[in-house]
Amino acid sequence: MIAACAQVGGDYREKVIRKVFNKEVLMHCPFCQDKGILVLEKAGYKGFKTSRGSGRSNTFAVSVKGGYVVITGCKKCGKTKTEVEKGLFG
Ligand SMILES: [Zn+2]
Repeated sequence: MIAACAQVGGDYREKVIRKVFNKEVLMHCPFCQDKGILVLEKAGYKGFKTSRGSGRSNTFAVSVKGGYVVITGCKKCGKTKTEVEKGLFG
C-alpha cells in the first residue's frame, strides 16, 4: 500500500502535464537523430476573457501560447530527458 502510494506520487507531475498537454508527438533526438523522443504538445489557442470593473465589463481577446514538454530521454544514445529538452528547445 505504501509502495503504491509512492508510485502515484512519482507519476503526479506527469499526470498534471498530460492533462494540459494533450497531444503525443514523436520527435527526433537532437544528438543521434533517432526518432524516439516522446514529447507532449499543447496547442495554442485564442479565447476571450471578461473583466468586470465598476459598472462595466470589458471583453478582450487573449491568445494562449502552445508549447512542448519532453517526456522521455533517448533510448538509443542514452541522453536524459533534460539533455534532450535542452538540445531541442534550449
Ligand atoms: Zn539519441
